[in-house]
Amino acid sequence: MEIGETGGIKVDHNYKTSDDDIYAVGDAIETYCALSCKPLRLPLAGPAQRQARAAADHIYNIPHINKGVIGLSTVKVFNLNAAATGLNEKKLKPMVFLTTLFISFLRIKLA
Ligand SMILES: Cc1cc2nc3c(=O)[nH]c(=O)nc-3n(C[C@H](O)[C@H](O)[C@H](O)COP(=O)(O)OP(=O)(O)OC[C@H]3O[C@@H](n4cnc5c(N)ncnc54)[C@H](O)[C@@H]3O)c2cc1C
Repeated sequence: MEIGETGGIKVDHNYKTSDDDIYAVGDAIETYCALSCKPLRLPLAGPAQRQARAAADHIYNIPHINKGVIGLSTVKVFNLNAAATGLNEKKLKPMVFLTTLFISFLRIKLA
């Protein structure tokens, strides 16, 4: 089975591996990041469950749209809620141009 650049099992948008008879979902695969347009490992239960449903849909010829993931996690510590989504600074730095563009867009939108 083909392994992707992130070390996860490579799958297509229907979660089919390089072996036509084998699907893979969850922590073992690399998925598609809708923000960076690059492969991404996202070991979370929510995406794993959606991927499993999408793979089952494909097996039964039920159409589905795979838009990729952006990643979201939350944590509650006593009364404090914290959440993170999207790309972190390390991943964004190589994408300075896009980030600048995005920030400019936000400024125009918020002005
Ligand atoms: C401490 C912890 C907290 C987490 N908290 C969250 C959270 O709050 N929210 C969230 O979205 N995600 C959370 N996750 C991540 C989430 O648990 C995983 O992303 C999700 O369970 C992945 O599902 P999976 O089916 O890919 O793998 P798993 O749930 O790990 O299932 C893989 C199964 O395969 C079995 N297995 C392994 N090897 C073999 C083998 N050789 N033969 C047969 N069976 C085998 C394992 O025993 C296991 O049952 C957490 C993970 C951890 C470790």
